[in-house]
Amino acid sequence: MPLTNTLPTADLQALDAAHHMHPFTANGALAEKGARIITRADGVRLTDSEGVELIDGMAGLWCVNIGYGRHELAEAAARQMRELPFYNTFFQTSHVPAITLAAKLAELAPDNLNHVFFAGSGSEANDTNIRLVRQYWALKGQPERRTIIARRNAYHGSTMGGGSLGGMAAMHAQGGMPIPGIVHIDQPYWWGEGGDTTPEAFGLERAGQLEAKILELGPENVAAFIAEPVQGAGGVIIPPESYWPEVQRIVDQYGILLIADEVITGFGRLGHWFGSQSYGIRPHIMTVAKGLSSGYQPIGGSIVCDEVAQVVAQDEFNHGYTYSGHPVAAAVALENLRILAEERIVDRVRETTAPYLAQAWSSLSDHPLVGEAVSRGLMASLALTPDKASRAGFAMEPGTAGYICREYCFANNLVMRHVGDRMIIAPPLVITNVDIDMLIDRARRALDQTLAHLHRDGLM
Ligand code: PMP
Repeated sequence: MPLTNTLPTADLQALDAAHHMHPFTANGALAEKGARIITRADGVRLTDSEGVELIDGMAGLWCVNIGYGRHELAEAAARQMRELPFYNTFFQTSHVPAITLAAKLAELAPDNLNHVFFAGSGSEANDTNIRLVRQYWALKGQPERRTIIARRNAYHGSTMGGGSLGGMAAMHAQGGMPIPGIVHIDQPYWWGEGGDTTPEAFGLERAGQLEAKILELGPENVAAFIAEPVQGAGGVIIPPESYWPEVQRIVDQYGILLIADEVITGFGRLGHWFGSQSYGIRPHIMTVAKGLSSGYQPIGGSIVCDEVAQVVAQDEFNHGYTYSGHPVAAAVALENLRILAEERIVDRVRETTAPYLAQAWSSLSDHPLVGEAVSRGLMASLALTPDKASRAGFAMEPGTAGYICREYCFANNLVMRHVGDRMIIAPPLVITNVDIDMLIDRARRALDQTLAHLHRDGLM
C-alpha cells in the first residue's frame, strides 16, 4: 500500500510538525499552516494529498530533468538492488555501475575531463573539491596555494565546506561559516547591483574583482575559483556576456584552477550537456549532482581533468564517502543519461523549448511589477519591483513581495519559487510548449493578484 495515502492530510501535517525537522523552512509558519504534502507526480505535474494537481516549475529542487514517472529508472534500481544492492569503492575494489557511470561521464564531459570522484550529493562533491584542489597543489610542491575564491550570493551546498564556498549571508550567520581559506568576491548581478553601468562593462568589472582578489592574496596562495555558470539558488542570476570570457582569461593568466559548479546547469539545463559548454569555459573540475540521476536517487560527484587527476593519483587521497558511487544510484543515473541522450532531451531544450520559453517569459516584462524577465536555457527569473525605471526594491522587508507572489502561484497550481523578491523557475526539461504557455498564464495571474494585494494593503 502506498505509505502516503494511509492518513488524512491534517494528521500527516500534525506528525510532520511534531517530528520532522525541515531543511531551509520557516518553522513557525510551517507549524501554523501545515506542510503541503506531495504524494504523486508524473511528467511535469505534482499531485498533493488533497488531490490538487500543480505544474512543477522547479523540477523538484532543480533536479527532475527527465520529468517524473519514468518507470525505467525504477526498474534499473530494482534490478541493481537484486544483483548488488551495495558495495563500496574503497581499498582497491570497484563495481560495474560505478565503472560504467564514470566512463559515461568522461565521454559526455568536454575536453580532458575524464575522471570522476563520486559523492552522495552536490554539497559533498564540493567538499571533495576543496580537499582535491588543496591536495593537488600540495603534491605539486605549492602547499601554500590553499585559498579558494568564491562569490557572494552563490550556492554550493549546505555542509561546512559547501556552505562556506557559498556566499549566503544568512547561512554564514549560523554555525561558524565560512571555514578559513575561503574568500568571496561580488556576483555579476547587473539588474540588482549594476547601477548606471552597462551590463557589458559591469560584467568586466565583476570579473575584474577576481583578478584584484588574486593580486591581493598573492597568486602563489590561490588554489581555485569556484562559480556556478548561472547562479541558481541566488535567484537565477544570468551573468552579462562579458563576464565568463574575462574570468577564463584571468584563471588562465594566473594558473588558478577553475571549478564550475554544474549541480544545476549540468545535464541539459542550459541546452548543452554542461553549462560550461554553453558559456565556452574550460573548467578543471565540474561539480555534478541533481540532473545526474534526475533526482531519482541521491548521487553527485566531481568530474576532474587529466592533469589534476594524475597529480592527485600520485598519493593516496584520504577522502571518500560510504556511498561514493553507490551501485543503485549509479545504475539509476546511467538509465537517466540513456533517456536524456536517446530521447534527445538536451537537444530539444536547445533547439525548441529554451527559445520558446525565452520569448514567452520575456512577455512578462510588460507587467507593472516586473523589472526584468530573463532566461537562459530552461532556467528563468523575474525581478519584482515597485519602480521599473529606477530598479528599486520595495519599502518593506525584502522577500515579502516574493513570498506573497509565491503563495499566489501555489493558489494557481504552479510551483514557482521566490528568492527574496526574484521569482524563479527551472522546470523539468521535458516540459512542452503547451505547458510553458500554461505556466506563463498562471504566473501572470499570480502577478496580477500580487499587485492587487500590495495595492490593497498599501504596500506599494
Ligand atoms: N551546488 C549548487 C549550484 C546547487 O544548486 C546545489 C543545490 N541546490 C548544491 C551545490 C548542493 O547540492 P545538494 O543539495 O545535492 O547537496
